[in-house]
Amino acid sequence: MRPLVDFLWPPACPLCLRGHSDWLCPTCRSHVAVLLEEERSVLVPGCDVVLASVPYEPPARDLLVRAKYAGDPHPLTALAALFGELLAVEKLVADVVVPVPLSRSRLRRRGYDQVVPLARAAATRMVCPLDAEALRRRRGGVAQAGLTRVARRRNLVGRFKCVRDLRDRRVLLVDDVVTTGATLEAAAKALRGAGAASVAGACLFRTRAVRAQK
Ligand SMILES: [Zn+2]
Repeated sequence: MRPLVDFLWPPACPLCLRGHSDWLCPTCRSHVAVLLEEERSVLVPGCDVVLASVPYEPPARDLLVRAKYAGDPHPLTALAALFGELLAVEKLVADVVVPVPLSRSRLRRRGYDQVVPLARAAATRMVCPLDAEALRRRRGGVAQAGLTRVARRRNLVGRFKCVRDLRDRRVLLVDDVVTTGATLEAAAKALRGAGAASVAGACLFRTRAVRAQK
C-alpha cells in the first residue's frame, strides 16, 4: 500500500506538477540554467575552493524560495537531486560533509533545515559521512539579505561554533546560496579553529551580485 502522504500529495515535478517523481521532469530540468565552468568558482577567505553551479534565478530559485519562505519542503527533493548531479566531485576532497546551520530560532519557525538535504546529497556523491551537527549558529545578528559585504562580515563574526574535533579532517561545507561568501568564511573559520585540515565549499546557487564582483 502506498503511504498516505503519496495519496494526498502524489510525487510530481515541483515546477509543473506533472510526472510521477519529486525530481524535476526533463522539460523543467532543461529550463534550469547551469553556470559555465569558469563562473562556478567563488573566492572565499578560509576556503580552499568554493563552487556553485546554478544562477539564483527562476525557475530554480522559486523552488528554494518556496522551501525557505513558504514553508513547503517538497521542492527540496528536486533541489538536492540537482545539487548532487551538478557537484564537481573531481574538484573537491572531503572526509566529512558539514552543512551551514540555521539558527535554532529559525529552525524552530521553519520546522526543517533546507541545507541538510543538499548536504546529504553531497555526502552521497562524495561517498563520505554527513555531520549535520558539527556547526552551531549562535544567537544574534540580523538576516544577511540586503546587507553590504562589509556589513555581512561584521554581522557574522564569531557566529559559528564547531562542536567537533576535526583534526586532520578535510571538510566540505555546504550551503544553499552563496552571495558574498561571508557566511562560508565565518563557518570555515570555526571549522579551521576545530582543526580542519582543509575546508572546501559547495553551494547550489550563486547570486548575480557575486558574479558581478569578479
Ligand atoms: Zn516539470
